[in-house]
Amino acid sequence: MRFEILTIFPEFFRGIFEHGIVRRAQAAGLVEISIVDLREFTHDRHRTVDDRPFGGGEGMVLKPEPLAAALASIGVLPVSDRGEGSNESVILTSPQGQRFAQPVARELAGLERVLLICGRYEGVDERINEMYCDREISIGDYVLSGGELAAAVVVDAVARLVPGVLGNEASSEFESFGASDTEIDADGGGVPRSQYGAGGLLDYPHYTRPAEWRGMAVPEVLMSGDHAAVRKWRREQQLKKTLRNRPDLLENAELTREDEEILTR
Ligand code: SAM
Repeated sequence: MRFEILTIFPEFFRGIFEHGIVRRAQAAGLVEISIVDLREFTHDRHRTVDDRPFGGGEGMVLKPEPLAAALASIGVLPVSDRGEGSNESVILTSPQGQRFAQPVARELAGLERVLLICGRYEGVDERINEMYCDREISIGDYVLSGGELAAAVVVDAVARLVPGVLGNEASSEFESFGASDTEIDADGGGVPRSQYGAGGLLDYPHYTRPAEWRGMAVPEVLMSGDHAAVRKWRREQQLKKTLRNRPDLLENAELTREDEEILTR
């Protein structure tokens, strides 16, 4: 899978993708990341990429010409010419975009190519959005000074979901926001499809050695060797943590009768 990031600050990305899973994914040839410097597509002495907004107001806006030239140089067609089966996505990073979340990351991980446009100043001339972008993505309800951090977040979250990147193929299901692991039967009972899975909930707490640290002991059940009890405890913890920190996730989670009981306790 190929990521291409269009930015006026290419140096921002120096070293950023050279750690851990993303570095290994590149080394294994599963993921390729390239940075496109928008200033290389300007034709004036000052390498101008921005201009004042029509209609007045504060700040500057990224001009359409360097962006369009940069996109053309890497073979990106306008959305209208891309055709049905297109296996790529051109994304505008923007606080006005669709909120980035794990389902979007999963969807992008199935593509061959993802391009990310990093805005700066007041943003990007809207005609670039209309002509080339098939989606706008926001990484949260706050305003960053540029799209570079947002692009890096998207690349990191998507790259680890590209098939083959995580050692254990299934392990992305067993973390926060993972796919559901529970089959609900006709009576509202639950049959786990796999041993542990986030099932659209937050992850459960994790512990490692030492078993006691500064007077704090690891929950006994985790050292009991009783796999059914461990599974039950973990599910309970997931439910409680989700209820405490992200009750909104419970609306779409697949809950068994037992889960509902835990939540009302
Ligand atoms: N005028 C814009 C607004 O109020 O919606 C804010 C522009 S912001 C200062 C500059 C650039 O940072 C944006 O064009 C976008 O690329 C990026 N950016 C800022 N916040 C973001 C967010 N929450 N998610 C993704 N990108 C963001």
